Amino acid sequence: MTNPLQSPDAGSEQAKELWQQCLSILKESVPPLSFKTWFEPVKALRIDNDHLVLAIPSQFFYDWLDEHYSEILRTTILTVCGPGWKITYNIPSDDDHTVFLKESESTKEEPAEPAALPASLQSATPPPLVDPFTPRFLIRMNGNTNALPRDLNPRYTFANFVKGESNQLAHAAAMAVANNPGGTTFNPLVLYGGSGLGKTHLVHAVGNQAFVSGKARRIAYVTSERFTTEFIESIQRDKTSEFSYYYRSVDLLIVDDIQFFAGKDKTQDSFFHTFNALYQLGKQIVLTSDVPPKDLEGLDERLISRFQSGLTADIQAPDLETRLAILQKKCEEHNARLSGEVVQYLASAVTKNIRELEGCLVRLIAHTSLTARPITVDLAREIVHLVVKDVSTPLTIDQIQCVVCRYYDIPEEQLRSKTRKKEIVIARQIAMYLSKEMTNSSLKTIGMFFGGRDHSTVIHSYQTVEDLSKKDSSMHHALEDLKRKLSALRT
Ligand code: ADP
Ligand code: MG
Repeated sequence: MTNPLQSPDAGSEQAKELWQQCLSILKESVPPLSFKTWFEPVKALRIDNDHLVLAIPSQFFYDWLDEHYSEILRTTILTVCGPGWKITYNIPSDDDHTVFLKESESTKEEPAEPAALPASLQSATPPPLVDPFTPRFLIRMNGNTNALPRDLNPRYTFANFVKGESNQLAHAAAMAVANNPGGTTFNPLVLYGGSGLGKTHLVHAVGNQAFVSGKARRIAYVTSERFTTEFIESIQRDKTSEFSYYYRSVDLLIVDDIQFFAGKDKTQDSFFHTFNALYQLGKQIVLTSDVPPKDLEGLDERLISRFQSGLTADIQAPDLETRLAILQKKCEEHNARLSGEVVQYLASAVTKNIRELEGCLVRLIAHTSLTARPITVDLAREIVHLVVKDVSTPLTIDQIQCVVCRYYDIPEEQLRSKTRKKEIVIARQIAMYLSKEMTNSSLKTIGMFFGGRDHSTVIHSYQTVEDLSKKDSSMHHALEDLKRKLSALRT
């Protein structure tokens, strides 16, 4: 095989390209004036084996760089070129002056495979990257698609993620990013929402899809807690460069539950630099959080503003139809046969957390296989009360219509009719509003219950009632009364 670095021209082009990548990282890491003074004048000359040869103006310049920037240069060169790479300085009227990256442990632990060509310049077969203290991710080499990155859970895919109104944007954005990591404006992509609503599932799906399709070769999935632990460990074991190198050399970085970075200033600082380095190189970053980035407490403002620079998408609690579909999927996965009645009961009773819904299903299956009791609604009810903290006896749209009509003393069928009489219109809008607020039904379903109206009518009604209740105290009180009456039906 010919080595592209054998031709001096190719070497100098590649040296320039590598140094350009280093500069884009350095620019984010040092103050603008320092960057202009100490880094802009440096020119890349060529590559000598695994040395990047840089031209600098004087001995004084070298001394200054060595004293003030040796660590940051060391990390940057590791990030861009890989373990074992060094910088050689060329000072006018002097011999080449080889400096830092003195024999560090990263050099000793360099993989046996020849890794002479920097990863960022290789398109077909990148060298294996090894995290020196906890080797955790494999890369796809020589067309071997079976080696999944180890931290990705192959169980979480797009194929078994159920789409619904509650996760529409998050799902679409995740798909777009998986198909074109680093190539969309959704960078970073931040998914947020309550516990058990599918954030972790979706981000694993992004990683799995990007990997299997070959769109991203190096993928790291990490929780913010684990990132923190590794960061601390890297300091204790004097391996901060390896730590930085590992996270800055990926094509796709997924960090789950970033709210746990709160109050950890040093880790946040490290993550900030990792974020910038990846972003500069056009790599994809995907994050999850339990609240929108702007509400993250204990996080540095500059991190929050970075998080807000891409796309933020929320995941809400799923509506009944979506819960039913998820349950069907989970039944297939667990090979379980449940009657329609039991499925309906479970999906209506466990409304706020899919993890709990799945927990009930698994317990039901375990229960019947151990006791040979058939799966009935009564058994399901027992289990739901054991597993779920907050069981709701679901309200139905019928109940809401009945209560609203009694309250306003109008016949129920009027709600479904086409009449535009003012008092009927208001009662209809209120009943739609309450259906949206209190049942988890989709807009489409609600529309169907009100004489086949479409979802835009339901949205309009919802907004009208919401606005009125802010402006008009009698409307506000009526809504409070109705909600109280309806809540009483739930117990
Ligand atoms: P989160 O990270 O938001 O707390 P998870 O991603 O861990 O939630 O989801 C909890 C469980 O619910 C997982 O087993 C996941 O597969 C399942 N789940 C959540 N949403 C969906 C969905 N839309 N389709 C299929 N499974 C889902
Ligand atoms: Mg999670």
